[in-house]
Amino acid sequence: MIRSAATLAAVTETVDTPGSASLPFYQPTGDECALFEHAYNHRLPLLLKGPTGCGKTRFVAHMAAKLGRPLYTVSCHDDLTAADLTGRYLLKGGDTVWADGPLTRAVREGAICYLDEVVEARKDVTVVLHPLTDDRRILPLDRTGETLEAPPGFMLVVSYNPGYQNVLKALKPSTRQRFLAVEFDFPAPEREVPIVATESGLAENRVVPLVRLANALRALKGQDLEEGVSTRLLIYCATLIRSGMKPERAIRAALIEPLTDDPDIRAGLLRVAEVTL
Ligand code: ADP
Repeated sequence: MIRSAATLAAVTETVDTPGSASLPFYQPTGDECALFEHAYNHRLPLLLKGPTGCGKTRFVAHMAAKLGRPLYTVSCHDDLTAADLTGRYLLKGGDTVWADGPLTRAVREGAICYLDEVVEARKDVTVVLHPLTDDRRILPLDRTGETLEAPPGFMLVVSYNPGYQNVLKALKPSTRQRFLAVEFDFPAPEREVPIVATESGLAENRVVPLVRLANALRALKGQDLEEGVSTRLLIYCATLIRSGMKPERAIRAALIEPLTDDPDIRAGLLRVAEVTL
């Protein structure tokens, strides 16, 4: 299909080039950095499993910078097609020109390509991923007739959140068994406190009760709540407090309201906050 340039907005993509910034701060929670390096050195694709806001994207940014590779990050959504990743012909001032998508650019440049929430994408995406994730490491571009061989620097990383899975959106075994996999979860309190303090600038002793509250709220997951408080939300909360907002207000805005729309559950969460702090 030929599209005008404007329709490419369907792809939310960011590109980080090595050296463009210092190493993004990442506090390891286990041996995930070593595993990533092994996967990269052996040209194996990697699947990151875990809840939203627990550090997966930051981890990939950190590792890409550490390995000196450019990084293409694509947030997948239910309208994302294979052509959004590989590329398409576009109309440019009366001419038809081929425009590489982010996956194709990553393969050509030997970059790391990170597909966040890959199960959200349309089914045809798996068709382009399969030949890239076995020992062929190729990307056939039917539209241009090219077959690209991925250079050693190319690595495919995908993530998904098992908590959101339903039968329709599960990763098929034939796809997931092509990836090494590593499970992510929220960091233990002794690790999460320095992460939140570093990211927000709030002193560690003021972050400690917030992390305690987050863990009390996380314990309710599965009972009243679908998802627990993410590290991302904790950082938002600490950032608000650091800029002068009253803790009670910041907690409500960052740790309570985003979790539920149900007034009874909200009242319950506020009670948890009162007794925990
Ligand atoms: P995910 O990709 O899992 O949804 P992110 O990587 O975007 O989550 O994490 C959300 C935020 O939490 C990051 O921007 C970062 O500020 C912080 N964060 C979470 N875990 C870590 C960690 N281990 N080290 C450093 N920052 C972290």
